Amino acid sequence: MAEQTVPATAREWHLVSRPNGWPVASDFELVEAPVRQPEPGEILVRNAYLSVDPYMRGRMNDVKSYVPPFQLGQVMDGGAVGHVVASAAEGFQVGDAVLHGLGWREYATVPAKHVVKVDEARAPLSYYLGVLGMPGLTAYAGLLEVASFKEGDAVFVSGAAGAVGSLVGQIAKLKGAKRVIGSAGSAEKVARLVADYGFDAAFNYKDGPVAEQLAAAAPEGIDVYFDNVGGDHLEAAIGALNVHGRATLCGAIAQYNETGAPAGPRNLVQAIGKRLRLQGMLVRDHADLQQQFVAEVAGWLKDGSLRYDETVRDGVENAVDAFLGLLRGDNTGKMVVRLGA
Ligand code: NDP
Repeated sequence: MAEQTVPATAREWHLVSRPNGWPVASDFELVEAPVRQPEPGEILVRNAYLSVDPYMRGRMNDVKSYVPPFQLGQVMDGGAVGHVVASAAEGFQVGDAVLHGLGWREYATVPAKHVVKVDEARAPLSYYLGVLGMPGLTAYAGLLEVASFKEGDAVFVSGAAGAVGSLVGQIAKLKGAKRVIGSAGSAEKVARLVADYGFDAAFNYKDGPVAEQLAAAAPEGIDVYFDNVGGDHLEAAIGALNVHGRATLCGAIAQYNETGAPAGPRNLVQAIGKRLRLQGMLVRDHADLQQQFVAEVAGWLKDGSLRYDETVRDGVENAVDAFLGLLRGDNTGKMVVRLGA
């Protein structure tokens, strides 16, 4: 394929101030910046979908963490998929579909060593940001490896209507869970968890104390808790976990925009008597499962046993709205931003 013409400039999002509490639109600025042609070893990608993810909220703070903070006045980054429009790297051709880490912009000049080719014949491009990408591997590894899930377990997952949570619940069912319970933040999401995703029970955490609602949904307790939320959810789960129960501490989104102390857990002492295992996870530690994960999940998608939803916002100019909407719970399934065709 011949090289495609690319514009001299394109749009990209910069972080211009650091939020204290909830981020607002004025913390970000959409900037027109030069599109740089690739140098040897690099490719130029026209992004087709950008990922917005909860961990990006942490990167807005100037603190040392497992991913470096976004720099003020600089372009932000994050997962993206798109097509190569110019290549100065061996093995990459114009037209190739790729996954890389320079999102939040229309065009990305990326070192080829940081790019992975993806197969559009196998699944739509955006799936590599979700069910076949980072959130999918998080759900798969977090449930099967970190929580040591086994057939017959009763599983509770918070953030259950989101990208990771909706997959955790379904994978648990596919692998023989006795009972799967989910929590989410609206009546509509709760209804979908049962009707569309096959959960046995679900509740809206805004309707009343999580501990009470979980006890009603899991009268025999739970064996595994997949924590996306932290706070009162984690406390309720510690209370509901059976002896030798396991919890995967994956996320704590209830805390990301809070400036005060977390709501819980205040009952950690129960972990002793019940011999609980509460284990933190980072998806990047589970690259060894990548091939097994893609093969198994792609199979479930193909035979229709796994449902995958996306909430799509159109246009690079709406990326911040998509991100803020994700933090508020506007999404069911994975929130992605689709750029012009
Ligand atoms: P989601 O698609 O689940 O989107 C975030 C969801 O969080 C929203 O839709 C919203 O749904 C829910 N939420 C927001 N505020 C609250 C709150 N105060 N209490 C309860 N729920 C809330 O995002 P992901 O699937 O991408 O991520 C899920 C979690 O997994 C996050 O905590 C994230 O940080 C973590 N994660 C961790 C990884 C790791 O390696 N450890 C990797 C990937 C993700 P609702 O309407 O239900 O409130």
